[in-house]
Amino acid sequence: MKRYPIQIFIAAAGLLLATGCGPPPPEPTVVEIPGYEALQEQFTGRDMSPLRGRRIVLDPGHGGFFKGAVGQNGLTEAEVNLGVALYLRGLLEWTGAQVYMTRTADYDFLTATDSTLVSDLAFRSSFSDSLQPDVFLSLHHNSVASLDRTVNETQTYYPLGSDGASLDLARAIHRHLVINLEIYPAKILPGNFHVLRNATVPAVLGEPAMISNPVIEGRLKQASSQRLEAEAYFLGLLDYFSQGSPTWSGARLDTVYVAPDGPATRVSWTFFSEDSLRSSGPGPDPGTFDLKLDGRQVPFHVTGQGHIVNWYPSEANLDLPALLELRGRNLVGRATPIRRTRLMPVPPRHVKLHLMPEHPHGDAMMAIRWSVAGNAPLAKGSLVFSSDLALPLESGTSGVALLPLPAGIPSEVSFHPGSGEDSILNCDIHTTELPAPWQWRMLLAGDGSTGGPWSLRTWLPDSLPAGLAAQTVPMIPYEPG
Ligand SMILES: [Zn+2]
Repeated sequence: MKRYPIQIFIAAAGLLLATGCGPPPPEPTVVEIPGYEALQEQFTGRDMSPLRGRRIVLDPGHGGFFKGAVGQNGLTEAEVNLGVALYLRGLLEWTGAQVYMTRTADYDFLTATDSTLVSDLAFRSSFSDSLQPDVFLSLHHNSVASLDRTVNETQTYYPLGSDGASLDLARAIHRHLVINLEIYPAKILPGNFHVLRNATVPAVLGEPAMISNPVIEGRLKQASSQRLEAEAYFLGLLDYFSQGSPTWSGARLDTVYVAPDGPATRVSWTFFSEDSLRSSGPGPDPGTFDLKLDGRQVPFHVTGQGHIVNWYPSEANLDLPALLELRGRNLVGRATPIRRTRLMPVPPRHVKLHLMPEHPHGDAMMAIRWSVAGNAPLAKGSLVFSSDLALPLESGTSGVALLPLPAGIPSEVSFHPGSGEDSILNCDIHTTELPAPWQWRMLLAGDGSTGGPWSLRTWLPDSLPAGLAAQTVPMIPYEPG
């Protein structure tokens, strides 16, 4: 529906002074507040397949206790952000994208023991981090304290100092916000907001308009404007993914242990043009590859027809611990997410336990994942939990086991080496208790006896507390053994 621009008469004071016998009143100054007229681009005829299967986290800013910016007539940013996000989710899911929302209703992420804004924001970051989506998009609307009714602006933020994939994403989204919302001025800006600073995937925070402007507030209240904004974001995401989504092999952050006097090691990464859902994408541009060791460029070797980057710690002056950052772009200029690798000195031998208590039927059982690492690891020995409970470790340097633990979670476990020449080690214990209503559950293979192969999964009981949607339940980042 075509909406006519609202006109504001600023020269009202002049009109008040005018009388029947005075000079004619001055022409009123008409100020139009552009924005949210109608979608300027076409949806039909576009190839939507680049969005299929993409994993996208949408973060409608604020909610619950936190209303965000509030318009002069009472419209809250939290409700507009959510409205836009719900429209955008619908559009994205229509193309086959997988959408995860940090919230789907009006609530916050405060707990009984922590009621700070930081904890609300930290939830959003860890939610996204645990999912490792293709992109993270936080939806907001800005405000200014000024009562100047002409102030309005589109702002698209990317994480400060992150000029790769996040900036590509910001540019793609910004282009379509500007074309379709028609708000000026419009700026792409680096931002140091919590959710951007802590993002571990390409991330953007959008502030398409000022809710503090009463004209804009009136438009944002309408579903048609929220839908229009969602459509602009949608076209931006489609644009972004249409140019491929190159990545490096492996997790986006991992750790490599380097023994300065040990055998020569090689660290290598493979460039993937596209994810497994798409057969091909634009290939690598090795001329854009960039490897930094603690911020300074270091030489590397490219093989595999430009797809493999190798780096040898022995070729560098290493001062451990150190951080490697690998960047690159594909042939059409789309950046990979930054691939980070921590370099750590090989630690002295230690035993790491990951304890996962579960209480499915009243019997206290606990799964443990154990690993023996460090210089000359010795796997043979036993883990001693208490005077009457010891777990012999016969082979390998890592494993999993299931133990009955009627006395609860132990705070101290020791490793007794099998050969007498080594001393007893205290274990590093990491415990992951899931927040209610999540539980650990064992999935047993074969005849269901606990002696058979089994795996541990997070388990969500069927009945959730009112107001809690499955997607909004906190997820614990799983620490690999
Ligand atoms: Zn906000």
